[in-house]
Amino acid sequence: MMTDATTPPSLSIALLGEAVLRQPVRQLTLPSDEARILSEQMLQLMQARSGVGIAAPQVHHSLALMIIASRPNARYPHAPVMAPLVMVNPSLLNQAQASNQDWEGCLSVPGIRGLVSRPEWVEVSYQDLDGRLHQRRLEGFVARIFCHEYDHLQGLTFLDRVDNNRNLMASEVLARQMEQP
Ligand SMILES: [Zn+2]
Repeated sequence: MMTDATTPPSLSIALLGEAVLRQPVRQLTLPSDEARILSEQMLQLMQARSGVGIAAPQVHHSLALMIIASRPNARYPHAPVMAPLVMVNPSLLNQAQASNQDWEGCLSVPGIRGLVSRPEWVEVSYQDLDGRLHQRRLEGFVARIFCHEYDHLQGLTFLDRVDNNRNLMASEVLARQMEQP
């Protein structure tokens, strides 16, 4: 079902401390009207909040459904452009030994950024909304988004991946530092 663009998203964001962010998700059997409607609403909400990814637990649904949507924005000016990718029942098949560090934020953890190590690439499988199985290799920033959202499906947030509290920063302080030449 297509939702009217003028209709405000009917979903609300689960915030850190809400139990749904720590619960394991349920796999979906496809095709599913539930998945189709929910993913459309999640996409609207993600775009309204300038996110580059979102996972179902973040909108109070314990389902194995997530969207990754890399694009350049104020937070990630060097992000590659990709069409939003809806991933149902995703699996992490393989990952690079080598990792890189970058700052992450999360719609469910407002006001905080954390420096997080993620693998340079991942090999993943997932189903699209029609139930077709896909396998893909994702690299760099896109791999980072996948790992962040996939963590949400395991009941983890990026805070669980920060290995030192000194690698946490207020969003506005990080933004100010990034503006400096
Ligand atoms: Zn998140």
